[in-house]
Amino acid sequence: MKAHVELKLDGKPKRIEFDMPEGAVRPAELLPVLRQFSNAMVEAAEAAATEPISCTKGCGACCRQLVPIREMEARRLAVFVRSLPEPRRSMILERFAAARAKSAGMRARLDSRAGLDQPGRIALKLDYFDLGIACPFLEDESCGIYEERPMICREHLVTTPAAWCATPREGTIRTLPMRRADSAAAKLEAGDWIPLIDLLDWVDEHPADEGALRDPREMLQAFLRDLAS
Ligand code: SF4
Repeated sequence: MKAHVELKLDGKPKRIEFDMPEGAVRPAELLPVLRQFSNAMVEAAEAAATEPISCTKGCGACCRQLVPIREMEARRLAVFVRSLPEPRRSMILERFAAARAKSAGMRARLDSRAGLDQPGRIALKLDYFDLGIACPFLEDESCGIYEERPMICREHLVTTPAAWCATPREGTIRTLPMRRADSAAAKLEAGDWIPLIDLLDWVDEHPADEGALRDPREMLQAFLRDLAS
């Protein structure tokens, strides 16, 4: 069903048109709609930026970070990866396996991430970065799944020098301020974040819950309320 929302971003009207899923759906089925709002937030932030954005094509420093994604994104990306044509599918599956193997020494910490306090989360992220694990989707230092990339990747635009991203320490990286669709979407789901490199295993271990079926309009309204707050 065709639908649209009129927003005002930095005082300028913005109309977002989308195909609204019909009937009760899981958040993953609403994700293409939520991504359109994420893209709109990024565009508005770029237009309002008061300092240059350092991110450029071919700089994949941030793609070695611990990337936290949501259940809806894990489910959609798992389907995406497993429906890729060969030999690309096997190549990406091998990269996921290699990334998981390289992070083996941190497995216990990654698996107990839900219990971490803020300093613990920061330490986990910094220690993970030190391992130099490239995202399985990183190709020639660019995102190989640009249209499918998680919202947190869309919304991560850096204004500090790009070189700093290769040696991040707490408080050194400044990002473009914007309303975060990623954060608003996270509140539609109960679970904790999932490390991107774990998404395939996580989806295999967590079959889709029929109880997660919800009215897409009600989910979109909750998302928009949070985005506007
Ligand atoms: S999904 Fe793309 S943008 Fe995000 S970390 Fe991976 S390669 Fe980088």
